[in-house]
Amino acid sequence: MPVTTEQVIAWIQRSAAVLRENREYLTQLDSPIGDADHGVNMDRGFTAVMDKLPGVADKDAGTILKTVGTTLVSTVGGASGPLYGTAFLRAGMALAGKVELQESDVLAALEAALEGIIARGKAKPGEKTMVDALQPAIETFKVSLGAGDPLKAALAKATESAEQGMKATIPMLATKGRASYLGERSIGHQDPGATSAWLFLRTMGG
Ligand code: ADP
Ligand code: MG
Repeated sequence: MPVTTEQVIAWIQRSAAVLRENREYLTQLDSPIGDADHGVNMDRGFTAVMDKLPGVADKDAGTILKTVGTTLVSTVGGASGPLYGTAFLRAGMALAGKVELQESDVLAALEAALEGIIARGKAKPGEKTMVDALQPAIETFKVSLGAGDPLKAALAKATESAEQGMKATIPMLATKGRASYLGERSIGHQDPGATSAWLFLRTMGG
């Protein structure tokens, strides 16, 4: 069954709620290896997104996601605003004009989002960033769809990979973003951006 624009809107609304619920948690994770604002940043961005959504609710998926992207870029300070903003912009470009998404469209959007994050932030896997949750999740999603799994099952598997990727950031040495200023002291802490990335994936499946 194709994904409708109503379902895309519902996912964005659920994401806003999940980020609000996890505001303190994400901010706590950003405290030892950052500046304790990741939850605040994401919540501020998605609160602004919620204000913009009614204006694009009747538009195609590309327009909806591009609006999320521009809103995040303009309202979120910090690294995560431009990075997630670019991700949503690129996903929107991949879905330009579409009002119904096939599984292959969802994959194309996720791949475009990750490419956007990498183009903007230059992080490679293993550098203790959101890429460490997203990259394995999208790879799992692709393999799962390729094996014939329905969308929901593929998203569930992708979410598990995102969770593993997120946990795998704990022993990593940060070499990108604010956490990299800490050098060896960044080891032993879970990356906040990998955690919000896992929350996005989990929310897509729900
Ligand atoms: P800031 O670090 O500017 O305070 P946030 O706290 O909102 O911004 O976001 C921090 C998160 O951004 C990190 O946990 C990491 O996952 C992600 N991040 C930082 N730099 C990069 C980068 N170059 N590429 C990918 N992700 C990055
Ligand atoms: Mg921060």
